[in-house]
Amino acid sequence: MNERIDIKELHWLLAVTQNIDVGIVVLDRDLQVQVWNTFMENRSGVIPFEAIGKSFFELFPELNRAWFSKKVDNVITLGTPAFTIWEQRPYLVRFKNYQPITGQEEFMYQNTSLFPLRGTNNQISHTCLVIYDVTDVAANRHQLLNANRQLQKLSSTDRLTGLNNRGHWEEALKQEYARHSRYGSQTSLVMLDIDHFKHVNDSWGHQVGDQVLQAMAEVVRAQVRGADIAGRYGGEEFVVLLPDTDKEGARIFAERLRTAVEALEVKHEGQSIRCTISLGVADLSKPSNGYKALIEWADQALYQSKKNGRNRVTVHD
Ligand code: GH3
Ligand code: MG
Ligand code: MG
Repeated sequence: MNERIDIKELHWLLAVTQNIDVGIVVLDRDLQVQVWNTFMENRSGVIPFEAIGKSFFELFPELNRAWFSKKVDNVITLGTPAFTIWEQRPYLVRFKNYQPITGQEEFMYQNTSLFPLRGTNNQISHTCLVIYDVTDVAANRHQLLNANRQLQKLSSTDRLTGLNNRGHWEEALKQEYARHSRYGSQTSLVMLDIDHFKHVNDSWGHQVGDQVLQAMAEVVRAQVRGADIAGRYGGEEFVVLLPDTDKEGARIFAERLRTAVEALEVKHEGQSIRCTISLGVADLSKPSNGYKALIEWADQALYQSKKNGRNRVTVHD
């Protein structure tokens, strides 16, 4: 009677193992498959009849043999379980991801655990591998990271021009100033303001003025090098921070920018709008008491350019 109950319960356990939504594989000491549940069958496309008796490595040739054998060895000799998590190892065995909600992930992310199985003689002769599908967790994490990245970008760029906004640009300046203070690196700043921009707005309207600002930002973007940090400082004022550049290098850059803007034509209803800019250049070769000094000096030089007739570069002395 008791035996019949035992057999019935064993039958239930088998049904549970088959139908549970995790992968279950039992391996012997030679890493040959002894149990292969429905989850494994569905995800791998290999039926139990074909899997049982086969080496785990034959079924998953991509798996790192040395690493996995060592892991199984440890479980058997120490008698303690081992785990892998998706953050460190995205998957143990590569399965395609079929979940509709997490469809953008290419493969199934997995957490796995491997634990020892003792025989009736209390010896460990087998291990049980459990594979959990954690693709939804990974997909959520990825979406969150993407959203954060986008937010970060939105909060650091100027909407009209796509350049760094003033706040973000000033943060970059602070960092560059700290680098200069510590290592004595050369740093220059070019500040520019569009000449008679009110006139553009007055004659063509604010929207066309905006287009001119966008075109101006394009020119700046085209002229800067990889390490330079350009930003929109105010309405029609732009700044370019030039790391590892002295005053003379910055003056040459500013002059190049000036002539590029001079050559720029913004087309509107068949007519072309042209502008010039005034620029101020300063560097950190003389003692300063904070990053704001660099802005002040460049601003003073810019003011001189305006006073001396506009469409020119002035270097702060
Ligand atoms: P100056 O040569 O002395 O610089 O003359 P200016 O006309 O450029 O003088 P100022 O710098 O005082 O004027 C800036 C003008 O820029 C005033 C403002 O209406 C315009 N402006 C500021 N921000 C924007 C913007 O986002 N879009 C447009 N279309 N115009 C803007
Ligand atoms: Mg201005
Ligand atoms: Mg202006």
